[in-house]
Amino acid sequence: MDFALSDEERAVRDTVRAFVTREVMPLEPEVLRRERAHQPGLDRSELRELQLKARKFGFWGLATPEEYGGMALPAVMQSLIWTELGRSFVPFRFGGEADNILFHATEEQKREFLLPTIEGERTSCFAITEPGAGSDAANIKLRARRDGDDWILDGEKTFITNGNDADFAIVVAVTDPKKGARRGGATAFLVDRAMGWRSEFIQTMGEGGPASLVFDGVRVPHRNILGEPGQGFTLGMEWIGKGRYTIPSHAIGIAERALQMAIDHATTRETFGAPIATNQAIQWMIADSETELEAARWLILRSAWTVDQGLDPRHASSMGKLYGAGMVNRVVDRVLQIHGGMGYTRELPIERWYRQVRLYRIFEGTDEMQRLIISRDLLRGYTKIGGHLA
Ligand SMILES: Cc1cc2nc3c(=O)[nH]c(=O)nc-3n(C[C@H](O)[C@H](O)[C@H](O)COP(=O)(O)OP(=O)(O)OC[C@H]3O[C@@H](n4cnc5c(N)ncnc54)[C@H](O)[C@@H]3O)c2cc1C
Repeated sequence: MDFALSDEERAVRDTVRAFVTREVMPLEPEVLRRERAHQPGLDRSELRELQLKARKFGFWGLATPEEYGGMALPAVMQSLIWTELGRSFVPFRFGGEADNILFHATEEQKREFLLPTIEGERTSCFAITEPGAGSDAANIKLRARRDGDDWILDGEKTFITNGNDADFAIVVAVTDPKKGARRGGATAFLVDRAMGWRSEFIQTMGEGGPASLVFDGVRVPHRNILGEPGQGFTLGMEWIGKGRYTIPSHAIGIAERALQMAIDHATTRETFGAPIATNQAIQWMIADSETELEAARWLILRSAWTVDQGLDPRHASSMGKLYGAGMVNRVVDRVLQIHGGMGYTRELPIERWYRQVRLYRIFEGTDEMQRLIISRDLLRGYTKIGGHLA
């Protein structure tokens, strides 16, 4: 058994770390200042400029196939990179990416949607959640009715990341209510904003924020169906599957950076004539955080490895998402506690992380949905205790 990174993994990890340290972290004070003034930390052109800079370093399209100019990196490598990005709260991600399901596009759709998205000329959002259907995504009601060569979309989506900025939405709509979404009754559509949907920003406890989307008789040509008619729910689950290892990978980076801040603070902050790190209460918080961080790291790397092996990653990635999201919430909470009153202020980014990571337990499958998947897999005998080693 070998727990070491390969030379290539280490080299890539170190290059990304250097990029984040040199190009991204210096922006942190300005990002905090803007966010405190209720402005976006980075605007679209600044993000693009940074992404183009990263492209010169060779980082462009981590998951994008090489034929589209991407790197097509293995999932383990992508996981390591997402961890490095998590070390800064600047809302930066590498360019050259598109939603994983957009690669199901037809040649015409590729020219209109996929290629401009990869190039950063257009931005997308993915919309399945509705006011009445979140965890129970198969209960969606947004209706698409056929009208000659078009479809007419009516209904509402909610909590859509990037929904207020996106140029187009990938919308999962009900096309055959009798079948039900899960059994071929839902279809994914590529819907330009110019076709007439409206969006409204939703205030949340985090920075940025999702939007609600309203479709009121929006006419969409049949050729804008993504994938096959009736495949909408399957595509939705494929879209969500990607986040099951990237989100917790990001969480590891946040926890690593925050824990180091706690260690630095504990060794310099003195109370009663000695550094607070001399107290067992503080030492235990540090020990528990490092232990959980390490457990999460291997669980999540294993789930990415499962993807690379071509095995079904659902069980492993649900465990990684569940544990990684919980871990980062517990670690950031302890880090805040170790900083005392300063941890609670807006001078430090800790309270920002505290608000940010709360989301990790909710989106792309809540804790409870991950538990449902994990237990159901075991109870139905779909997987064995011990996974691939069983
Ligand atoms: C900031 C943000 C960004 C998002 N981005 C997107 C996006 O880009 N696209 C998109 O489509 N969606 C997005 N979502 C939606 C997100 O995926 C849903 O919020 C999530 O799936 C939970 O659905 P819900 O909010 O309707 O909660 P509900 O499904 O109503 O659940 C409420 C609570 O009940 C629990 N629960 C529900 N059913 C069960 C059960 N059977 N057993 C036990 N517990 C249960 C849940 O775990 C949760 O704790 C986003 C959400 C947020 C907050």
